[in-house]
Amino acid sequence: PSFKRLLIVSYRLPFTIKQTKEGLELVQNSGGLVSAVLSMAERMGNNPDGQATKIHWVGHADPKLKSIDQSVFENETFVAHPVFMDEAVHKGFYEGFSNDLIWPLFHYFPSYASFSEPNFDDYQQASNRFLEELDQLIEPGDLVWIHDFQLMLLPRQVREARPDATIGYFFHIPFPTYEIVKLLPRTWRQALIEGLLGADVIGFHTADYVQHFIQSVSEVLNLPIIGNRIVLPDRPVVVKDFPISVDFNKFNSSGQEPAVIDTRHFYHSELRQNKVIFSVDRLDYTKGITSRLLGYERFLNQNPDWHDKVTFVMTVVPSRDKIEQYQEIKREIEETVGRINGLFGSIGWRPIVYSYASMTFTELMALYTLCDVALITPIRDGMNLVCKEFVASRQDNRGVLILSELAGAAQELKDALIINPTDTQEVADAIKQGLHMAPEEQERRMQRMRHHLQNYNVFRWSHDFLMAFDEVPGSQPGLE
Ligand code: UDP
Repeated sequence: PSFKRLLIVSYRLPFTIKQTKEGLELVQNSGGLVSAVLSMAERMGNNPDGQATKIHWVGHADPKLKSIDQSVFENETFVAHPVFMDEAVHKGFYEGFSNDLIWPLFHYFPSYASFSEPNFDDYQQASNRFLEELDQLIEPGDLVWIHDFQLMLLPRQVREARPDATIGYFFHIPFPTYEIVKLLPRTWRQALIEGLLGADVIGFHTADYVQHFIQSVSEVLNLPIIGNRIVLPDRPVVVKDFPISVDFNKFNSSGQEPAVIDTRHFYHSELRQNKVIFSVDRLDYTKGITSRLLGYERFLNQNPDWHDKVTFVMTVVPSRDKIEQYQEIKREIEETVGRINGLFGSIGWRPIVYSYASMTFTELMALYTLCDVALITPIRDGMNLVCKEFVASRQDNRGVLILSELAGAAQELKDALIINPTDTQEVADAIKQGLHMAPEEQERRMQRMRHHLQNYNVFRWSHDFLMAFDEVPGSQPGLE
């Protein structure tokens, strides 16, 4: 479809705005969405004045920036429109309703979910603030693309304000079965589902999430559904799976950068040429970090011949660690690491090299390309990009991916060793199988997975999402 301008709306802006003595500094965020949108900017070409078409992006910003007398912040690609809100509203909306209710609930951790009416009010109010900002901005011919679970109410609000708008929505976390959605108070689940249906196209990572959403729509609103379309009285809504992915070429080529090669050599010698198992995740109870450690412990217990010859490099990236549950799992992880290292380690060998820190891109690439086994074992993960980055970075067609069947990515990466993370024996067996796998089999599996990701890269994701608007009658704005 063609459209005049692209307006992205997500909780986070594409860059962090910092005030320094020299003036403002805009530090671009990395991550799937930003890289996908960057490539779209390139494809959108120039506007009639011959300048590159910029992408408008509406997102939350620190209220401190209000003191700067500036309503937008621009770099060469983006025009950022900050949304300011009262700090108490932000807390209830973001930390409360989004991270303390929807996140655990939709990842099948209902016992971690906290249901609070004031938080739902804040969630609505925050959405109003996003709408106010957007409303000043939208022009006929714009495509509005709203992202993720923080903004489920917004599509409908935009539709009511601008009935002719073209609106897309992408959901970045799992959409669970109705049995889970049903735990939400009736009025909330209705508001959330109706909120989403304001869009013309709604995207999810997998076909299962699409089915779950359709199930909720028919339970809550009893609307007719034909194939992948929900039939509203005045228009259809297309619901489809679009698996998000990575910039394949970037990961494929970065392993050859001199800084990555140096870091890889350094790690190799520090780890005494041991076989290396690697994992990296944000601190989160959904990532299955403790079960992973227990699987590794079982492997060490059952395979004394591997002692001293293998090292598990496990990096946990700090996240949400002001929330109690996150502090608790951090404690649990660190106790387990300490226990396993104490039990099996020796003067010269640490079975687990653990760090609680974020990594530079160079360090990440060095470990992706050095490790023998990537051990990715979430209990629940909407997609999981780490496993796709690992596969994309293995230009050498070596290395083994062990992947949880509960990650969205397992629907695509069928040549991984697929395990259930709660089955520690299965994890232990997969580690052993991975460490012993013949190079020919590694190559065969890697080649197939790499071929898939080369096709289904992040640019394909955004391209396919935009193409879905062609299935919606009359929704292509600004057709030239
Ligand atoms: N990543 C990061 N900082 C690090 C290590 C990794 O930002 O120190 C990136 C990693 O490259 C990947 C993302 O964080 O792109 C994690 O995405 P994923 O979908 O696997 O999990 P999420 O954290 O979104 O639940």
